[in-house]
Amino acid sequence: MKTIIIATKNKGKASEFAAFFAKYGIKVKSLADIRKNITIEETGSTFKENALIKAHTVCKILKKPVLADDSGLEVAILNNQPGVYSARYAGENSNDFLNNQKLLYMLRGVPDKLRKARFVCALALVYPKGKEIVVEGVCEGYILEAMRGTNGFGYDPLFYVPELGKTFAELTEEEKMKISHRGRALMQLEKVLEDVKDSGSK
Ligand code: IMP
Repeated sequence: MKTIIIATKNKGKASEFAAFFAKYGIKVKSLADIRKNITIEETGSTFKENALIKAHTVCKILKKPVLADDSGLEVAILNNQPGVYSARYAGENSNDFLNNQKLLYMLRGVPDKLRKARFVCALALVYPKGKEIVVEGVCEGYILEAMRGTNGFGYDPLFYVPELGKTFAELTEEEKMKISHRGRALMQLEKVLEDVKDSGSK
Protein backbone atom coordinates (compact mmCIF):
# COMPACT_ATOMS: atom_id res chain seq x y z
CA MET A 1 0.00 0.00 0.00
CA LYS A 2 1.24 3.49 -0.87
CA THR A 3 1.91 5.86 2.03
CA ILE A 4 1.92 9.64 2.21
CA ILE A 5 3.62 11.58 5.00
CA ILE A 6 1.64 14.46 6.46
CA ALA A 7 3.65 16.99 8.45
CA THR A 8 1.23 17.33 11.35
CA LYS A 9 0.83 16.15 14.93
CA ASN A 10 -2.79 17.34 15.01
CA LYS A 11 -5.00 14.24 15.41
CA GLY A 12 -8.06 15.97 13.93
CA LYS A 13 -6.22 16.90 10.75
CA ALA A 14 -4.54 13.49 10.47
CA SER A 15 -7.90 11.74 10.74
CA GLU A 16 -9.42 13.91 7.98
CA PHE A 17 -6.45 13.26 5.69
CA ALA A 18 -6.59 9.51 6.42
CA ALA A 19 -10.28 9.38 5.43
CA PHE A 20 -9.60 11.37 2.26
CA PHE A 21 -6.59 9.35 1.06
CA ALA A 22 -8.18 5.99 1.96
CA LYS A 23 -10.40 6.44 -1.14
CA TYR A 24 -7.25 6.16 -3.26
CA GLY A 25 -5.83 3.23 -1.31
CA ILE A 26 -3.18 5.52 0.19
CA LYS A 27 -2.22 5.24 3.86
CA VAL A 28 -1.42 8.38 5.85
CA LYS A 29 1.54 8.64 8.22
CA SER A 30 1.55 11.70 10.46
CA LEU A 31 4.40 12.99 12.64
CA ALA A 32 2.72 11.20 15.55
CA ASP A 33 3.43 7.87 13.73
CA ILE A 34 7.09 8.69 13.06
CA ARG A 35 9.48 8.01 15.93
CA LYS A 36 11.78 10.95 15.18
CA ASN A 37 11.21 13.98 17.36
CA ILE A 38 10.66 16.73 14.81
CA THR A 39 10.15 20.30 15.96
CA ILE A 40 8.95 22.87 13.47
CA GLU A 41 9.13 26.62 14.05
CA GLU A 42 6.09 28.20 12.40
CA THR A 43 7.62 31.60 11.72
CA GLY A 44 5.68 32.52 8.57
CA SER A 45 3.09 35.29 8.43
CA THR A 46 0.77 33.51 5.99
CA PHE A 47 -0.75 30.03 5.86
CA LYS A 48 1.12 29.30 2.63
CA GLU A 49 4.48 30.32 4.11
CA ASN A 50 3.92 28.12 7.17
CA ALA A 51 2.75 25.15 5.10
CA LEU A 52 5.96 25.40 3.03
CA ILE A 53 8.13 25.69 6.16
CA LYS A 54 6.55 22.54 7.63
CA ALA A 55 6.77 20.52 4.40
CA HIS A 56 10.40 21.52 3.67
CA THR A 57 11.53 20.85 7.27
CA VAL A 58 10.08 17.34 7.34
CA CYS A 59 11.07 16.53 3.73
CA LYS A 60 14.69 17.45 4.49
CA ILE A 61 14.76 15.11 7.50
CA LEU A 62 12.88 12.12 6.01
CA LYS A 63 14.04 12.55 2.39
CA LYS A 64 10.57 11.63 1.12
CA PRO A 65 7.74 13.68 -0.41
CA VAL A 66 5.80 15.41 2.36
CA LEU A 67 2.39 17.09 2.47
CA ALA A 68 1.88 19.84 5.06
CA ASP A 69 -1.27 21.68 6.11
CA ASP A 70 -1.33 25.10 7.70
CA SER A 71 -4.79 26.29 8.48
CA GLY A 72 -6.81 28.52 10.75
CA LEU A 73 -9.75 30.76 11.32
CA GLU A 74 -10.05 34.38 10.19
CA VAL A 75 -12.75 36.43 11.90
CA ALA A 76 -13.62 39.58 9.94
CA ILE A 77 -14.48 41.87 12.86
CA LEU A 78 -11.29 40.82 14.68
CA ASN A 79 -9.12 41.98 11.77
CA ASN A 80 -8.85 38.37 10.58
CA GLN A 81 -7.51 37.11 13.91
CA PRO A 82 -6.67 34.47 15.12
CA GLY A 83 -5.36 33.60 11.62
CA VAL A 84 -1.96 31.88 11.68
CA TYR A 85 -2.15 31.97 15.50
CA SER A 86 -5.34 29.84 15.61
CA ALA A 87 -3.71 26.89 17.39
CA ARG A 88 -2.25 29.14 20.13
CA TYR A 89 -4.95 31.84 20.36
CA ALA A 90 -5.37 31.48 24.13
CA GLY A 91 -1.59 31.09 24.73
CA GLU A 92 1.33 28.79 23.92
CA ASN A 93 -0.01 25.83 25.96
CA SER A 94 -3.55 26.38 24.87
CA ASN A 95 -6.13 23.77 23.81
CA ASP A 96 -9.26 23.70 21.64
CA PHE A 97 -11.63 24.45 24.52
CA LEU A 98 -9.64 27.47 25.76
CA ASN A 99 -9.26 28.82 22.21
CA ASN A 100 -13.02 28.58 21.70
CA GLN A 101 -13.66 30.33 25.04
CA LYS A 102 -11.29 33.14 24.08
CA LEU A 103 -13.03 33.55 20.72
CA LEU A 104 -16.44 33.77 22.41
CA TYR A 105 -15.06 36.35 24.83
CA MET A 106 -13.57 38.46 22.02
CA LEU A 107 -16.94 38.40 20.21
CA ARG A 108 -19.12 39.10 23.24
CA GLY A 109 -21.93 41.52 22.34
CA VAL A 110 -21.21 41.31 18.59
CA PRO A 111 -24.50 40.80 16.68
CA ASP A 112 -25.04 37.73 14.47
CA LYS A 113 -24.53 39.38 11.10
CA LEU A 114 -21.14 40.78 12.14
CA ARG A 115 -19.81 37.39 13.25
CA LYS A 116 -18.57 36.46 9.77
CA ALA A 117 -15.55 34.17 9.62
CA ARG A 118 -13.68 31.93 7.25
CA PHE A 119 -11.50 28.91 7.59
CA VAL A 120 -8.40 28.87 5.38
CA CYS A 121 -6.21 25.86 4.59
CA ALA A 122 -2.90 26.00 2.72
CA LEU A 123 -1.43 22.70 1.57
CA ALA A 124 2.19 22.37 0.49
CA LEU A 125 3.51 19.25 -1.21
CA VAL A 126 7.31 19.19 -1.28
CA TYR A 127 9.58 16.64 -2.98
CA PRO A 128 13.18 15.79 -1.94
CA LYS A 129 14.61 17.34 -5.12
CA GLY A 130 12.99 20.66 -4.18
CA LYS A 131 9.82 20.68 -6.31
CA GLU A 132 6.92 22.28 -4.45
CA ILE A 133 3.17 22.63 -5.04
CA VAL A 134 1.10 25.00 -2.89
CA VAL A 135 -2.70 25.35 -2.96
CA GLU A 136 -5.32 26.98 -0.74
CA GLY A 137 -8.96 26.34 0.17
CA VAL A 138 -11.47 28.58 1.96
CA CYS A 139 -14.83 27.99 3.66
CA GLU A 140 -17.08 30.89 4.74
CA GLY A 141 -19.36 30.89 7.77
CA TYR A 142 -20.32 32.57 11.05
CA ILE A 143 -19.23 32.22 14.67
CA LEU A 144 -22.08 31.17 16.97
CA GLU A 145 -22.58 32.42 20.55
CA ALA A 146 -22.26 28.94 22.02
CA MET A 147 -20.66 25.66 20.97
CA ARG A 148 -22.81 23.16 19.05
CA GLY A 149 -21.92 19.56 18.15
CA THR A 150 -19.28 17.10 19.26
CA ASN A 151 -17.50 16.02 16.07
CA GLY A 152 -14.31 17.42 14.61
CA PHE A 153 -11.71 19.51 16.41
CA GLY A 154 -10.52 23.08 16.97
CA TYR A 155 -13.13 25.75 16.33
CA ASP A 156 -15.58 23.30 14.67
CA PRO A 157 -18.29 23.65 17.39
CA LEU A 158 -18.46 27.44 16.88
CA PHE A 159 -18.22 27.53 13.07
CA TYR A 160 -21.71 27.68 11.54
CA VAL A 161 -22.30 27.05 7.84
CA PRO A 162 -25.55 28.83 6.86
CA GLU A 163 -26.19 26.69 3.73
CA LEU A 164 -26.25 23.54 5.88
CA GLY A 165 -27.79 25.06 9.03
CA LYS A 166 -25.10 23.23 11.01
CA THR A 167 -21.75 23.78 12.64
CA PHE A 168 -18.72 21.83 11.41
CA ALA A 169 -18.95 19.84 14.67
CA GLU A 170 -22.45 18.66 13.66
CA LEU A 171 -21.16 17.16 10.40
CA THR A 172 -19.61 13.76 9.81
CA GLU A 173 -15.98 13.79 8.66
CA GLU A 174 -17.18 13.00 5.13
CA GLU A 175 -19.79 15.81 5.11
CA LYS A 176 -17.25 18.29 6.46
CA MET A 177 -14.67 17.31 3.83
CA LYS A 178 -17.12 18.10 1.00
CA ILE A 179 -17.27 21.80 1.89
CA SER A 180 -14.41 22.54 4.27
CA HIS A 181 -11.32 24.64 3.60
CA ARG A 182 -9.25 21.42 3.81
CA GLY A 183 -11.54 19.55 1.43
CA ARG A 184 -11.40 22.43 -1.03
CA ALA A 185 -7.61 22.68 -0.81
CA LEU A 186 -7.36 18.92 -1.44
CA MET A 187 -9.59 19.31 -4.52
CA GLN A 188 -7.20 21.98 -5.80
CA LEU A 189 -4.24 19.72 -5.12
CA GLU A 190 -5.90 16.84 -7.02
CA LYS A 191 -6.44 19.17 -9.97
CA VAL A 192 -2.83 20.40 -10.00
CA LEU A 193 -1.51 16.83 -9.76
CA GLU A 194 -3.78 15.78 -12.66
CA ASP A 195 -2.51 18.73 -14.74
CA VAL A 196 1.11 17.81 -13.97
CA LYS A 197 0.38 14.18 -14.99
CA ASP A 198 -1.35 15.30 -18.22
CA SER A 199 1.44 17.67 -19.23
CA GLY A 200 3.97 14.88 -18.63
CA SER A 201 2.13 12.50 -20.94
CA LYS A 202 1.88 15.02 -23.81
P1 IMP B 1 -1.80 24.65 12.62
O1 IMP B 1 -1.63 23.22 13.07
O2 IMP B 1 -0.71 25.55 13.02
O3 IMP B 1 -2.12 24.71 11.15
O4 IMP B 1 -3.06 25.19 13.40
C1 IMP B 1 -4.32 24.97 12.95
C2 IMP B 1 -5.32 25.44 14.00
O5 IMP B 1 -6.40 26.09 13.29
C3 IMP B 1 -5.95 24.26 14.73
O6 IMP B 1 -5.29 23.99 15.93
C4 IMP B 1 -7.38 24.73 14.94
O7 IMP B 1 -7.43 25.56 16.08
C5 IMP B 1 -7.64 25.61 13.72
N1 IMP B 1 -8.21 24.80 12.62
C6 IMP B 1 -7.63 24.49 11.43
N2 IMP B 1 -8.45 23.73 10.69
C7 IMP B 1 -9.54 23.53 11.44
C8 IMP B 1 -10.74 22.78 11.21
O8 IMP B 1 -10.94 22.11 10.21
N3 IMP B 1 -11.64 22.84 12.22
C9 IMP B 1 -11.44 23.55 13.36
N4 IMP B 1 -10.36 24.23 13.63
C10 IMP B 1 -9.40 24.22 12.67
